[in-house]
Amino acid sequence: MNTKGIALDKSVILKQYFGYEHFRRGQEEVIDAIIARRDLLALMPTGAGKSLCYQIPALMLDGLVVVISPLISLMKDQVEALHSEGIHAAFLNSSLSRSEYADTMNRAMRGEYTILYIAPERLDHRDMHAVSAVLPVPLVVIDEAHCVSQWGHDFRHSYLEIAQFIKKLATRPTVAAFTATATPRVTDDIIRHLELDNHFFISTGFDRSNLYFEVQKPNDKYMTLLNLVREREGKSGIIYCATRANVEDIQRRLSDRGIQATRYHAGLSDVERHVNQDDFIFDRKPVIVATNAFGMGIDKSNVSYVIHYNMPKNLESYYQEAGRAGRDGEKADCILLYSPQDVQINKSLITRGAGEFHQSEDHIANNLELLKQMTFYATVGDCLRNRMLSYFGEKPPSYCGNCSNCNTQFDEIDITREAQKIVSCVYRLKERGRQFGKTMVTDILLGRSLQKIRQLKLDSLSTFGIMSDSDNHLIRLIIDELEQKGYLLSSGGDYPVLLPGGKSHALLKGESVTMMLPREKDPAQSKKPLFAARPAAGRMDPRRQADNMALFEKLKILRSGLAREEGIPAYIIFSDAALLDMCVKRPKNPKEFLGVSGVGEVKCKRYSGAFLQAIDGFRSSI
Ligand code: ADP
Ligand code: ZN
Repeated sequence: MNTKGIALDKSVILKQYFGYEHFRRGQEEVIDAIIARRDLLALMPTGAGKSLCYQIPALMLDGLVVVISPLISLMKDQVEALHSEGIHAAFLNSSLSRSEYADTMNRAMRGEYTILYIAPERLDHRDMHAVSAVLPVPLVVIDEAHCVSQWGHDFRHSYLEIAQFIKKLATRPTVAAFTATATPRVTDDIIRHLELDNHFFISTGFDRSNLYFEVQKPNDKYMTLLNLVREREGKSGIIYCATRANVEDIQRRLSDRGIQATRYHAGLSDVERHVNQDDFIFDRKPVIVATNAFGMGIDKSNVSYVIHYNMPKNLESYYQEAGRAGRDGEKADCILLYSPQDVQINKSLITRGAGEFHQSEDHIANNLELLKQMTFYATVGDCLRNRMLSYFGEKPPSYCGNCSNCNTQFDEIDITREAQKIVSCVYRLKERGRQFGKTMVTDILLGRSLQKIRQLKLDSLSTFGIMSDSDNHLIRLIIDELEQKGYLLSSGGDYPVLLPGGKSHALLKGESVTMMLPREKDPAQSKKPLFAARPAAGRMDPRRQADNMALFEKLKILRSGLAREEGIPAYIIFSDAALLDMCVKRPKNPKEFLGVSGVGEVKCKRYSGAFLQAIDGFRSSI
């Protein structure tokens, strides 16, 4: 036991306060390092459970744990969540009135809190140092630590003051830095600027296996968006746009179509921003259309999709924004609607911004390079997850099976006739003593009347125009395939030309060839039922599955009602994951209720009555 009367066992605390049976990857190591008083830097993806990594030590250590966090809404959310778990916490930021501030300070001095969240702008305040003189501050946590680096995507000047702040505390605390996005360069900055001492480093990898990544290049972005949102009716989603004007336009058009969508950007009044954000967080409006001003510090765990209407300017921003989906661990979609204009818009933003903020040449070049990486992600056909994780310095497998590139369905198509036409065209050219590259060969097959073709009298070839009913893209794909299979050969050098390959004779004698071509995806096939995908559910008969869905809906309604009464977001009462577990386990008494993942002792006391009654009522109705 410590002076707070809490047992010093991390697993006991995990169950008792948070209701979880097992630690997730990395959590135990981080907690152990903190308890051993070692500085640390933890790179853990969004939704990995970083908060518990310092909240559990905060319960075990004597004194007050200080958490520096960049945004006000996040603090409020965290503090509400802690209260719902029976943990004393508060925050200090600019949203407090003078008397609220003084009150919080006094209570902190009296040792009433386990955790105090502070905005970085408040750090130079003498009060905090006074607190540390009267009670121990064993640990300072820096959340979103990448904000300390100018090379990251969300640099905050006030973060540079943190090291100074720590030095002025009565005794040096353990310093623990957390972030979900950091390239190696940003990682170095964090260690240097926060002056981490002999730190423990842990990276659990950036992968978020519950997220599905998709890139689409639609002709009509708006119609595509509308369909995507309609397919996800009732689910919570964020739509990111590049500009305020886009936000206004899209939000209005979606609302006109009867979709409950709100809007958020820096041009709105404080009051409207606040109201709209709450409408979204409290599930009164399931969809929010926003610029990137929205989201930092938003801890809404049941966001089921994030659609980017425009491509962001780098992969870090994209991953951070898209990563706001699926924090509760449920399956969620991250969809990017790409168009080539997005690249142009970003380029001009980077160069214009550079002028306004007097950035160095280096900085601009860095930003343009980051944009290039983002563009690759959006345009290259290989595994999206692989590309993203490689960018963050990992070595992921080349196939993930959970992105639009990996999941594109392929059909095996017979291309024997096309192959024969292409190869004989190369033969005919060779007979005339001519050799050309892929583009020219394709033009001849398509029968295009180009000046060069006419001049060289290639339009008199028997193979001229024999594929005029095909298209350029397909012919190029087939040529590449034939080259790979040895029916064609490409010379090296700066201007490679096509030649018949070793296997070309076999083809002209009638050997058949096939290739795999992408098929339009059938959306119905990619949707898995909610319960069947969950290991806890085991193999389940369809009847039980339907019952579970009905019960889930019922519990969600109960949760909304309670949330309204208490004036807190529904996901703070229980996550969807906890409700789903309730549906599967269907507890009959408080003891069984405690066995549900996400139910700790305080929540059990507070909510078991209402939920057990609902589950009981459901049981007798089926
Ligand atoms: P992060 O800050 O890393 O994005 P959070 O700390 O918000 O993630 O945690 C994401 C979700 O995962 C929360 O709903 C949290 O309660 C849940 N969670 C954290 N640790 C565990 C665990 N060991 N078992 C089950 N759920 C957990
Ligand atoms: Zn993939």
